[in-house]
Amino acid sequence: MKKLRLFALVLFILSLLISQVYANPPYKNVVIDPIIVKPEVYEVCSGKPYHDMKSRGIALVSYNDSWLLIGSPCWQCKNCYLVLATEGDPTYPYYEPIGTWAYKIYDEPINIYGACFDADYVGYCPDNRMDGYRFSY
Ligand SMILES: [Zn+2]
Repeated sequence: MKKLRLFALVLFILSLLISQVYANPPYKNVVIDPIIVKPEVYEVCSGKPYHDMKSRGIALVSYNDSWLLIGSPCWQCKNCYLVLATEGDPTYPYYEPIGTWAYKIYDEPINIYGACFDADYVGYCPDNRMDGYRFSY
């Protein structure tokens, strides 16, 4: 009798599993939304994960009392007014590394012909794109 009860229980559990499978018949026309895993996005500037850098002529940059960049491409973020100078031009259609770059935190639009500034921060980028920045004319 005990074996029969156990068998009944196993049958009952199996039927639950099977009925769960068949409880959701595979409707052919139902489009199931794919699970979208969004990458983690870090806000960099004005709700975006990057500074929207617009071309602003050329830059003369000094750092630690000496000239660092002379006549290099100059950019300004259209949202937060960060001014950046890059040794190479990342918008060129052919590959040109950004190289040495320098930025200055600024609070208003600069002249379209460029800027002369003492850098707040200096770095080097061996690639033609840089995390947190988008360059355009
Ligand atoms: Zn910005």
